[in-house]
Amino acid sequence: MLDRTLPGRRAIVVGAGFGGLALAIRLQTAGIATTLLERRDKPGGRAYVYEDQGFTFDAGPTVITDPSALEELFEGAGRRLADYVELLPVSPFYRLCWEDGYSFDYVNDQAELDRQIGAKNPRDLAGYRRFLDYSKAVFEEGYVKLGTVPFLQFRDMVRAGPQLARLQAWKSVYAKVAEFIEDEQLRQAFSFHSLLVGGNPFATSSIYALIHALERRWGVFFPRGGTGALVRGMAKLFEDLGGRVELNADVERIALEGGRATGVVLKDGRRFDADLVASNADVVHTYETLLKGTARGAAEARRLRRKKFSMSLFVIYFGLKRHRPEIMHHTVCFGARYRDLIAEIFNGRTLPHDFSLYLHNPCATDPSLAPPGMGSFYVLAPVPHLGNAALDWEKEGPLYRDRILAYLERHYIPGLRDDLVTCRIFTPQDFRSELNAHLGSAFSLDPVLTQSAWFRPHNRDDAIPNLYIVGAGTHPGAGVPGVVGSAKATAALMIADAAHVRP
Ligand SMILES: Cc1cc2nc3c(=O)[nH]c(=O)nc-3n(C[C@H](O)[C@H](O)[C@H](O)COP(=O)(O)OP(=O)(O)OC[C@H]3O[C@@H](n4cnc5c(N)ncnc54)[C@H](O)[C@@H]3O)c2cc1C
Repeated sequence: MLDRTLPGRRAIVVGAGFGGLALAIRLQTAGIATTLLERRDKPGGRAYVYEDQGFTFDAGPTVITDPSALEELFEGAGRRLADYVELLPVSPFYRLCWEDGYSFDYVNDQAELDRQIGAKNPRDLAGYRRFLDYSKAVFEEGYVKLGTVPFLQFRDMVRAGPQLARLQAWKSVYAKVAEFIEDEQLRQAFSFHSLLVGGNPFATSSIYALIHALERRWGVFFPRGGTGALVRGMAKLFEDLGGRVELNADVERIALEGGRATGVVLKDGRRFDADLVASNADVVHTYETLLKGTARGAAEARRLRRKKFSMSLFVIYFGLKRHRPEIMHHTVCFGARYRDLIAEIFNGRTLPHDFSLYLHNPCATDPSLAPPGMGSFYVLAPVPHLGNAALDWEKEGPLYRDRILAYLERHYIPGLRDDLVTCRIFTPQDFRSELNAHLGSAFSLDPVLTQSAWFRPHNRDDAIPNLYIVGAGTHPGAGVPGVVGSAKATAALMIADAAHVRP
């Protein structure tokens, strides 16, 4: 419920990604006068929207899970999510396709899942049931209990230790799936999910197997009008609550006085004062650039630069003059290699010669995203970040685009290039220059166990008592449910701290 008990307190949130928006809504709901500063001309961050010749392209997230977290956010503000945006169920959740022609429809219907698993490898039917039980158990521990609470002290980690040990969190997602399932393609089908939040299935903690249970519990959704409609709904809710959004507001530095944050200064010279400052910008950018010239900024940036960062992505947004209803909304196109390709993506020094792709066909759910009878698509390929492969994407990008489009035409969309109306690309260099992403990483710090929970940058800075972090770089991590959860954890700290600030 709306709780306006903190009049006179002012907060600034730097960056209007999903994490920044959700945090700003919670602060404004609590009665803290909040200003959201975003350097680009639209809110959304990785969920930016491109429009071209009547086509609408969501730039980033398209698989919306855990609608209950969004509903809770709106209800806390005394509103209904459904009054701002309509979430449409998507089925199958994904169609998974391999080059040998095998495909698996990943659905929420147990009988249909059993039928497909039984047809592929009858011995995996019982194993899948055990995997589902495991996934539900980690979902309860890792998501329901720990997903929205800040890990500020090491003792918070110690407290979670026995459960993590019981669930064998030191094993990788793939290793855990392989304990239950024999068939290699089914192992891929139930382990690729960590890639959606930037985690290597062969290195990320098996805690991430919870994504399966999370999807089965609530389903997979797509906002009518695209993910951009959800972003606009959240920005509108924030403004309806009295919050202030400043676009084209590029923050140059966070101002400090006496060891506390006092506000921010923009590149155009404007200054905004505040009692509490939160950054939704990339964590390395926050410490290295926004706190440049301070001892705390230098020390934390040095520490963070030594961490392992998640892979980058290469994305092609393209409009076709033909709608393609036969292509499912979400299609995963597995290449011939899985383990070795993923190793090259996460650790390789060059661009792999082959790829695994995710193909987005939103018009399968909402035809309004393209002119009548036409189709808007995007396809993404995970690629090494700039720290591992310092490629010249100005040169490499168009060549890689042509290879991927030719592959799609051969395997999935015959006649693609003849039907092409519009096409644009987004490369690791764009992640760096447009989003200030360290090394062009698409998901911030790699979510391995040693960089999760207490080991991830904290929701409140350890040294500056009124500086906070929200979004993919803090606990619990990347993905829309993750960053919306991080906003809940960070907001709880800020609201509690605000009570001690004299207005
Ligand atoms: C292509 C792609 C597909 C994805 N698909 C999915 C999916 O299907 N489902 C899912 O759950 N997740 C998905 N993800 C992950 C998810 O999108 C992200 O983890 C999440 O959106 C990140 O949100 P965030 O709050 O951390 O902020 P971000 O989206 O990173 O936003 C940060 C904001 O800060 C702004 N900023 C940076 N520096 C400054 C500055 N100095 N001054 C002012 N503003 C600044 C940036 O412009 C940006 O708007 C995908 C990601 C990508 C890239």
